[in-house]
Amino acid sequence: MNSTVRVSNPFWIDEKHDFISSLQTHPRIIHADLPTNNDEYDIVIIGTGLSGVACAYWLRKLYPVERFPRILLLEKNARPCSGASGRNGGFLWPSYDYIAGYVEDYGYENACQWVEFQHENIRAIAEAVEENQIDCEININRGNVALARNEEELENINKSYEIVKDYIGKHPKTKMSLDNLELWDHQKCQEMLHSEKFIGGMFMRESGTVWVAKLVYGLLKYCLEQAGVDLMTQSKVIRIEDSKKVFLENGRVILAHQAIVHATNAYAVEYLDFVRGKIIPTRGQCSRSKPIETIFWPFGLSARDGREYYHQSPIDGRITLGGCRWRSPDTENNNQNDSEINDLIREEHERFFAKWHPGIAMKNHTVEIEQEWTGIMAFTVDELPLIGPLPGDNHQFLLCGYNGEKIFFRSEF
Ligand SMILES: Cc1cc2nc3c(=O)[nH]c(=O)nc-3n(C[C@H](O)[C@H](O)[C@H](O)COP(=O)(O)OP(=O)(O)OC[C@H]3O[C@@H](n4cnc5c(N)ncnc54)[C@H](O)[C@@H]3O)c2cc1C
Repeated sequence: MNSTVRVSNPFWIDEKHDFISSLQTHPRIIHADLPTNNDEYDIVIIGTGLSGVACAYWLRKLYPVERFPRILLLEKNARPCSGASGRNGGFLWPSYDYIAGYVEDYGYENACQWVEFQHENIRAIAEAVEENQIDCEININRGNVALARNEEELENINKSYEIVKDYIGKHPKTKMSLDNLELWDHQKCQEMLHSEKFIGGMFMRESGTVWVAKLVYGLLKYCLEQAGVDLMTQSKVIRIEDSKKVFLENGRVILAHQAIVHATNAYAVEYLDFVRGKIIPTRGQCSRSKPIETIFWPFGLSARDGREYYHQSPIDGRITLGGCRWRSPDTENNNQNDSEINDLIREEHERFFAKWHPGIAMKNHTVEIEQEWTGIMAFTVDELPLIGPLPGDNHQFLLCGYNGEKIFFRSEF
């Protein structure tokens, strides 16, 4: 019997998880169709992915209690965290392996500072998790390896390593450390990967994985315990007027006296003129396997310059795999439909491990897909996120455009 779920059904926000159902009845969660006494707030944050919820969290942390603003979080779906934050691959991965490319695009200093910033943000996320005792399976010390399948990819990895080494030599106060990085040759890859297909790689010790939706729900729970923070679900924003009036699809109008924050990532193109033409909504696909008894790799892996990424749950051996968008190059750009999956990409996921890790099959293991889903990433034309005030408007702020990766580019972290 084929037990594969054919619709887009993200494992991370599956209704069967207790953390989802237990928040549903929270008294501070308002349904947009139900009347309430109040439609006026100081700050309205649109979107309850990691960006929106982290924004509320840090506002709460940074304001003194007596001046804490009244905040409303708006979410178009019935459940918070229904966008990319509930549909990703779960990697926390500073892009050391990309530095050579960043140097070409943004210059030496900017590139190295950018990756150092990513790394610091990962540490800050781990601290916030620790401080709030959020159970989200975070592990930033399991390590990830970026793999090379050909000479060109290997050259980029080696170049990136040399740049980090050079930068550390020139910047003694940097928090980057070569102890964190290890170059793997072909032989080491063979030993570690059940595969002869990879000719080298860069292993990053301090990096790992997290269950992002659990992290978001944990932060949200904290926010909703604070006086002055509400969440309105099924409240799709359709337009803003006078930098103050937030119009919902059901006709309701919310007033934001101090600020509006657009934390809607790729979906911002649906209602915000400024981001149209700057953000290209792009669909990514992930799958999760049935449980596997053997743990093949205790660390995470990525190949083809990060276009395929996978890790195995240390709890039940299930493998989460993302990527292979190249298999269907004409369908996934400018695509905002995350309710269905792409069958061509699915085929590629099905054959991925037999093709790239043949040692697994030789040990009589098969990797069978149990669940799969798509999610919408926000690619930007210059590949940089859109963070800060809307030009010429000191009441509206952008927190979007993360280019399909980097859960940890949140400006707040
Ligand atoms: C398949 C896939 C794999 C990925 N893998 C990784 C990874 O391994 N590591 C990594 O670092 N990053 C990864 N990413 C990227 C990462 O998930 C995103 O950058 C991040 O989650 C974006 O968070 P966000 O809060 O900005 O946006 P989202 O999580 O998309 O949140 C936006 C929220 O706004 C709501 N919304 C949208 N429009 C409206 C409206 N008009 N009114 C009200 N509410 C609205 C949505 O319903 C949603 O809840 C991946 C993304 C995808 C899609």
